[in-house]
Amino acid sequence: MKRRYVTFLTFLALGVVAFKSFPPTDEEYQVRREHMVKEIEADVKFTSERIGKKALGRHVMEAMGKVPRHEFVPAHLRRSAYENRPLPIGYGQTISQPYIVALMTDLLDVDEDNVVLEIGTGSGYQAAILAELVEKVYTVEIVRELGEQAKGRLKRLGYQNVWVRIGDGYYGWEEHAPFDGIIVTAAASHIPPPLVKQLKPGGRIIIPVGSPFMTQQLMLVKKEKDGKIKTKQVLPVLFVPLTGGH
Ligand code: SAH
Repeated sequence: MKRRYVTFLTFLALGVVAFKSFPPTDEEYQVRREHMVKEIEADVKFTSERIGKKALGRHVMEAMGKVPRHEFVPAHLRRSAYENRPLPIGYGQTISQPYIVALMTDLLDVDEDNVVLEIGTGSGYQAAILAELVEKVYTVEIVRELGEQAKGRLKRLGYQNVWVRIGDGYYGWEEHAPFDGIIVTAAASHIPPPLVKQLKPGGRIIIPVGSPFMTQQLMLVKKEKDGKIKTKQVLPVLFVPLTGGH
């Protein structure tokens, strides 16, 4: 009797281990993604006074509900891919919190015929979200390994309207300028003048500005039709620093 009991417990334990080591199915990821979208909506409501809106654009939220974030995080963190928080992606870098990705994308206020520039490709997740919404996405990454990985990942996932370049994004991507919008996903001490120059009149830059590892301000920079620059602080945020030789 006792032996049977031990055998039963052994099989039960093995069953639990086997179950746990199976990766979630696509359906399970879908459910988690829908839950993540709900959490973003709740965060937006919670911060509505600061960000000046109660909800983000429908197309932005649809993109958040579509792009498989679990494909953009290291394999051992896939189970956490749809938690509303940043995650490490190696080389001391992080994939941003989904709420922040959604907010920054919304603030960029893009149209489907737009050409946008991203500085700080990282995992490629933000670029994929943008690729769902605009015609062309150019993205620059300074860490070669991350840039190469993101390039391969975006290709494997079928994104044909994203171009990744390895280099210092402080200087933008002159060859494809001017851009309708520019999104910087690393914190800079100031707004890089080359990026302002490569922005179309009527365009926007979204950028965290401040000291590394201290609270920074997410800034919305608008270039008026006459070329005048207007800036607005949106929200305190925490990003990894913009590095490079500038
Ligand atoms: N947008 C990314 C997350 C960015 S983390 C995503 O969706 O996953 C910030 C990224 O900016 C890091 O990968 C870092 O290497 C990169 N970075 C830092 N300084 C840079 C610079 N001067 N030019 C280009 N990329 C830079």
